[in-house]
Amino acid sequence: MTTQTPKDAGAIILLRHDTDQNNPEVFWVKRSTKLAFLGGYRAFPGGQREVLDDEVSVKNCDDPERGAMISCAARELFEEVGVLLARGSKTLTVGQRTSLSDDLESGRMSWPELLAHYDLHLDANDFTFAGRWVTPPFAPRRFDTWFFLANCPAKQEPHITQDSELESGEWIAAADAYGQWQRSEIIVVPPVLHAMKTLAAGLSDDLIARFLSIPEAHREPTRRIEFHPNYICFPVRTPTRPPATHTNCYLVYNSREILVIDPGSPYEDEQQALAECLDDLMAAGRNAREILLTHVHPDHVAGVTALNAHLATHHGRSIPVAAHRATAESLKGQFDVDRFIEDGDRIVLAGEPAIALRALHTPGHARGHLCFYDELTGALISGDNVVGFGSVLIDPPEGNMRDYLAALERMRALPNLSVLFGGHGPAIANSYEKLTEYISHRLEREQSILSAVRAGATTPKEIVARVYTDVSPKAHGLAERAVIAHLEKLEADGLVALNSNNEYFARVLGQ
Ligand SMILES: [Zn+2]
Repeated sequence: MTTQTPKDAGAIILLRHDTDQNNPEVFWVKRSTKLAFLGGYRAFPGGQREVLDDEVSVKNCDDPERGAMISCAARELFEEVGVLLARGSKTLTVGQRTSLSDDLESGRMSWPELLAHYDLHLDANDFTFAGRWVTPPFAPRRFDTWFFLANCPAKQEPHITQDSELESGEWIAAADAYGQWQRSEIIVVPPVLHAMKTLAAGLSDDLIARFLSIPEAHREPTRRIEFHPNYICFPVRTPTRPPATHTNCYLVYNSREILVIDPGSPYEDEQQALAECLDDLMAAGRNAREILLTHVHPDHVAGVTALNAHLATHHGRSIPVAAHRATAESLKGQFDVDRFIEDGDRIVLAGEPAIALRALHTPGHARGHLCFYDELTGALISGDNVVGFGSVLIDPPEGNMRDYLAALERMRALPNLSVLFGGHGPAIANSYEKLTEYISHRLEREQSILSAVRAGATTPKEIVARVYTDVSPKAHGLAERAVIAHLEKLEADGLVALNSNNEYFARVLGQ
């Protein structure tokens, strides 16, 4: 399974005019919670490169590639927050800038035409390169993003344009933004976190050197992703169900202890990378406490034995494995589960900050499926019940649609959910929206399936042909499994039944 090639993108880290050198303010935006990709995340204005970005000539720039990316970042900044970083724009009135932005948005003028029309030009000296970050291969969309640091011109004030992708935007002191992340109040991707941390130390002479001091700022994909503090998302390559190619292992840690959740890779290089990450955390004096499993599927458990072998060799002892009893039973013969986790159990870490995970038995995708809810920060490790990439397969008899919907309802009823850490893909910041979307999607499918049965479809195959018109015939086998799961639920709900020929029919109320 190959992962997709990252697309070029540009972003601007915009500093406020005449900002405090020791406590600089930067303009950040909140992505709409309605967006499927990184909805609800804080970010910098930016976006994907367009063909015409290459046609803008950038002064003081001898590298056409860099020029095109400056053009891309400047255009995105103008489109999203109305700030025009072009020489010659000082004489434009606010009204003129607004009408230019309308022209660009409506397509009346292209970006190169617009600059030429008002005799404006971009100058590379206004855009300081601050790193190039590649989205790790676990995400549904991947970007190779060029970040540029720029000063906001004196007479321009950023504001969110009609752009439906963004919900809000504001100036914030980098130290405050970093503080919000430390308090688990916001979710950002690694380059944004790195920028906030770097800026929070002040606009010193070595600012850019600090920006560029880590390999991730030079296109080395990030392995250790901290969407929230104390939660490392460590995607490992697994033979999982496409389109996903990776399974997220989570390392939950504080000053003294570490929990490892779902080490799922069967591949040696990936197991080694995970072991090194754990070694780093342990080198700082922490104790690896336990391996927790969300559920039985191979892409979530295949690295357990290797991780424990590593711990035994390098740290003198392996650590206990904990899972639901149903998971433990299915794993018999592979490795032993040392402790059973029941619904409601709390796993409390010794050390600072306090971390208490409450286990929720949430079957549906798998019988012994567990989620782990952090009562203090509202983070929920959602396993394969909700994922950031791909869809969730409910495959009977291990899968059960009725249980699954009940599990989703239960998850949605949890107070102050701040993030869902799914088994695949990026963290989900818009937790309640995502859960509602999952529930409605399943209920809509259920209604279509019921209608198909009422209209005379009698077998899963016939139902798939009528209902799954949006799915390629290649996926019909999997769709049939999902239909069977829905039919089982409808049967349990008393809405359909099977006749002696193994054909489904709709029950009339009261029958
Ligand atoms: Zn699974």
